[in-house]
Amino acid sequence: MTEVQLQEFKLDPDSELRFEVESKNEKVVLEVKSGYAELFGTELVKGKPYEFHTGAKVAVFTWHGCTIELRGKTEVSYVAKETPMIVYLNVHAALEQQRVAAEQENTRGPVTMIVGPADVGKSTLSRILLNYAVRMGRRPIYVDLDVGQGQISVPGTIGALLVERPASIEEGFSQQAPLVYHFGHTSPSDNIELYNTIVSRLAEVITEKCETNKKAASSGVIINTCGWIKNAGYKVLTHAAQAFEVDVILVLDNERLYNELKRDMPKFVKVVYLPKSGGVVERSGTQRAEARDARIREYFYGKRTPYYPHSFDVKFSDLKIYKVGAPSLPDSCMPLGMRAEDALTRLVAVWGGRALQHRLLAVSFAAEPDDHVLHSNLAGFVCVTAVDMERQTLTVLSPQPRPLPNTILLLSELQYMDNH
Ligand code: ATP
Repeated sequence: MTEVQLQEFKLDPDSELRFEVESKNEKVVLEVKSGYAELFGTELVKGKPYEFHTGAKVAVFTWHGCTIELRGKTEVSYVAKETPMIVYLNVHAALEQQRVAAEQENTRGPVTMIVGPADVGKSTLSRILLNYAVRMGRRPIYVDLDVGQGQISVPGTIGALLVERPASIEEGFSQQAPLVYHFGHTSPSDNIELYNTIVSRLAEVITEKCETNKKAASSGVIINTCGWIKNAGYKVLTHAAQAFEVDVILVLDNERLYNELKRDMPKFVKVVYLPKSGGVVERSGTQRAEARDARIREYFYGKRTPYYPHSFDVKFSDLKIYKVGAPSLPDSCMPLGMRAEDALTRLVAVWGGRALQHRLLAVSFAAEPDDHVLHSNLAGFVCVTAVDMERQTLTVLSPQPRPLPNTILLLSELQYMDNH
């Protein structure tokens, strides 16, 4: 038996305890013994044990001081006195003023986009600002445009959630009824045309939602983005800013990006430079791939609350599978009136075969392969766990029992090996 390690930390006001859980199958239990503390904007309940598993990188911040106990093996654990939390709180206060004005004048609250290179804490700042807003009684909309390391649904998608309560410490924001669009790759660079199309679509749908939900409208939107900020990546960001008609852009830790946006954005867009937290942990390519895998596993099997997915066979002949994007031809070879880029958002039929093994398939709400498929949000995902060429069937892992709905399935580049 391994000995359970026990550590106690006394935190002064305005400081945070940072720790990481690295070893495989390790579990660390955190408990606030006295005082008040929060985790990325969610208040911790005194005396309640919270569990963190392999891969967790955590900061517990206190405004007033507290004592925290950690049980289990942490890779790193230290108390930091230098944090940007006061700056982030000021940003929240400024957004809150705009929400108050929006409520009084019956207009739209602040639409805020968070940008910056990889590993500067964009997702974490989104979570903090959403949590602070919802703790003030607001109902903000969270938009995640990060197709690689997003927080909504599975990787390879963009999506939005109405945030009605603070993120759960262990499970994040409640994923009930998210609005999700299919992209199928882990970087916008894999198909910029498609990425921009679905970003514009999501922005349209959110504008429509805000017209019918006044509370959400005055609470505003927080948009998390990808860490791809140079060249075409920059254009993708400015396209998103335009599509969502953002009011505020928070630039984390990149002066060049800040200056470019200051130069290129219309004057009414407030571009604000923010420092990153010294606690944000850089992740390697392998860690990112593991994080993506973990998100897919969570989608099918749950995290703290377990889910029980179904597994069943489907005949090739009963499936309508498409991938988005035909090989691009030069303009001169295209039919009259079509641009070469149009091919990138075309649906191409995919036949059942071994290549589908381990792939994720997005279940669209669209029944037919017409123009509306890319504009339709997703019902969910299934994963192909086996292909039987003799019987001409696929075995799929699905959150819903059989049969698969008679709708279009969109092939994702993402793979998942189900060895649960
Ligand atoms: P990406 O571009 O890959 O999406 P990001 O900029 O959104 O990255 P985050 O995901 O917010 O960065 O943060 C990276 C990691 O650092 C996360 O695992 C997060 O939990 C951790 N982290 C963030 N802030 C702190 C902190 N103050 N102390 C310790 N860990 C932190």
